[in-house]
Amino acid sequence: MIIIMRPGAEEAQIERVVDRVRAAGLDVHVSRGVERTIIGVKGASHEVRTEPFALLPGVDDVLRVLKPYKLAAREFHAEPSTVNVRGTVFGGKDIVMVAGPCSIEGEQTLREIAGVVRHAGAKGLRGGAFKPRSSPYSFQGMGEDGLRIMRQVADELDLLVQTEAINSRSLELVVQYADIVQIGARNMQNYELLKEVGATRVPVVLKRGMAASLEDLLLSAEYVLHGGNEQVILCERGIRTFETSTRNTLDLSAVPALKELTHLPVMVDPSHASGHREYVPSLALAAVAAGCDALLVEVHSHPDEAKSDGAQSLLPDDFADLMYRVRAVARAVGRSV
Ligand code: PEP
Ligand code: MN
Repeated sequence: MIIIMRPGAEEAQIERVVDRVRAAGLDVHVSRGVERTIIGVKGASHEVRTEPFALLPGVDDVLRVLKPYKLAAREFHAEPSTVNVRGTVFGGKDIVMVAGPCSIEGEQTLREIAGVVRHAGAKGLRGGAFKPRSSPYSFQGMGEDGLRIMRQVADELDLLVQTEAINSRSLELVVQYADIVQIGARNMQNYELLKEVGATRVPVVLKRGMAASLEDLLLSAEYVLHGGNEQVILCERGIRTFETSTRNTLDLSAVPALKELTHLPVMVDPSHASGHREYVPSLALAAVAAGCDALLVEVHSHPDEAKSDGAQSLLPDDFADLMYRVRAVARAVGRSV
């Protein structure tokens, strides 16, 4: 349920509504827009009647959010929400670049790649220490040693750390080292893990499952928000289609659709979407033009030797060139980098 206050409603009227909601055993999220204040009601609001709230002074309208997700719904939070990670804002005017290798492979390689992406203008360093590989015979990640290396390298270069947690045990470790915890496509519907992420206060990048609809994605985000963790960034990373010339199919229309359905910031990962480094720049630029708030790009200094996803990793020069072009497209659509 959302309670829409009249334009210019007084503070005392807003407080009275908030008190009444709390008295009904529900929680609130107050969003103060330029024109009006919207009070989002959290909890089992379908069990309370809307009329008593509609009659309170200063209230313009009371609406039920009909979507199955509530806290993630745009109706609930009229303004786009931002996620501020140690001063870097996702969902604002700036498009945030997070880049790095697929996996953390060792200190020297990571330092080399981190230097490249930092120099080109990335704000965050990506890299997995716990890898959800399709094959049990593939490299599974360096674990905590990898996290330690990543934290150190990122601190030297003033980069944010974004890394994946794949289960409770890795989440416990990841929250100690990372600025942003990534929940991968394969775990998007691991609801127990989502509940645990919801119980933390660490910003989270939630990747769309490869066969998940946007509603599925938003319901997964709802799990995290419901737990009280409001720092959720959604990530479109391509979905499975019948097309085989690319690893996945980047659902570019997810960007404007999500912008309409939700207030949460939207990141796009053109690397896992395409599987080929040759296609990554075009998809990245298209995503910026479509209105994404952040990009997640795999970069490797020696992709032929990469332990995972070398074929889709940009070379250092490609990444620098991409940054240059991202800036131009961002400017053209009223954004900055
Ligand atoms: C990744 O970003 O490292 C990854 C495994 O991606 P996804 O979960 O989208 O497949
Ligand atoms: Mn990868």
